[in-house]
Amino acid sequence: MNYKISKRAASLTASITLAIDSKAKQMKAEGIDVVGFGVGEPDFDTPQHIKDAAVKALAEGFTKYTPASGIPELRQAAADKFKRDNGLTYKPSQIIISCGGKHSCYNVMMALCEPGDEVIIPAPYWLSYPEMVKLAEATPVVIETSDKTEFKVTPEQLRNAITPKTRLFILNSPSNPTGSVYTPEEIKALGDICVEKDVLILSDEIYEHLLYDDAKHVSVASFSQEHYDHTIVVHGLAKAWSMTGWRIGILAAPEPIAKAIDAIQSHSTSNPTSFAQKGAVAALNGPQDHLQPWLAEFAKRRAYAFEKLNSIPGISCVNAKGAFYLFPNISKLGLNSMDFCAKLLEQEKVAAVPGIAFGADDYIRISYATSMANLQKGLERIDKFARSLAK
Ligand SMILES: *Cc1c(COP(=O)(O)O)cnc(C)c1O
Repeated sequence: MNYKISKRAASLTASITLAIDSKAKQMKAEGIDVVGFGVGEPDFDTPQHIKDAAVKALAEGFTKYTPASGIPELRQAAADKFKRDNGLTYKPSQIIISCGGKHSCYNVMMALCEPGDEVIIPAPYWLSYPEMVKLAEATPVVIETSDKTEFKVTPEQLRNAITPKTRLFILNSPSNPTGSVYTPEEIKALGDICVEKDVLILSDEIYEHLLYDDAKHVSVASFSQEHYDHTIVVHGLAKAWSMTGWRIGILAAPEPIAKAIDAIQSHSTSNPTSFAQKGAVAALNGPQDHLQPWLAEFAKRRAYAFEKLNSIPGISCVNAKGAFYLFPNISKLGLNSMDFCAKLLEQEKVAAVPGIAFGADDYIRISYATSMANLQKGLERIDKFARSLAK
């Protein structure tokens, strides 16, 4: 047999976060007391009224194909959300419901990118972006940032990275993995350059509602008609409604792009799960009062973790203003991020994700979407580990 794998597939790096998570789960199953900081999902349950809506849909037999781009009710609910939260006006035909925010991003690459096209990605980046660009046979162009600028790209850096081949700029604020949030002025400055240079923006706003302190979220699409015309907004139910397993993503785009993505979905996934879409309608249209208690809990954990990490010799951490991650710098401890995380898991039974997965080898990612007790236990272990390295 000739199992020759396509160049497209062979060029990929499998998701390191998912690999670490499964290793930690396996150790747990063996009875080992592992603390997991690897997961990228909230530890809260999906709100009850959302589950009820899906159960009702199932009971009523809502179990068949739906339109490939989602049920009209959900596309309208998403359009209402963009109006309400972002002041953006979309027709339901500009909204595509997919099988997750990840799927929405993938659809964008498949609809817009060709061999030879360049896609600008600020690092640290969500690890799937460059791999999706490669799947679309385009070229990722990475802009490096560091904790010195709170992991934000400057307008000058963006301007310098744009070439005649640039097709797309990926903006992710609040950010996974750093938790960094651009100010409205910073977002506008980056958007202005994209408008001027006629570069499209994929704005991944899935952490929009998870903000701390004085942070404010503004969609880059909202500054002017031109910004709107250059932007594809990706959103989803996974993070702010704790619905990671439901697989529902939302995308809003100028009509021709939405139409292209509709065609792609109609020949690949077809519709996202019918009854999950009914749950998503309840999530978007229903009460949002689950969020404040979640944010209060996240904020408490973030404050604790930020202080504890900065008290560990050799580790420094800038504070995050959004999402549920911290991205401490471990470079003074003399190990690259992969070795650091491998040894940390082996010696102290703590699972964290090496920064190299996000294109930033001086850091590790700590998710605080876990209980305070776990956070305390895990960070004490990291403290002990760091002190053993510093010796
Ligand atoms: C979690 C996440 C998504 C979407 O996840 P889905 O589970 O596919 O909805 C998109 N972008 C970023 C940066 C994320 O962290």
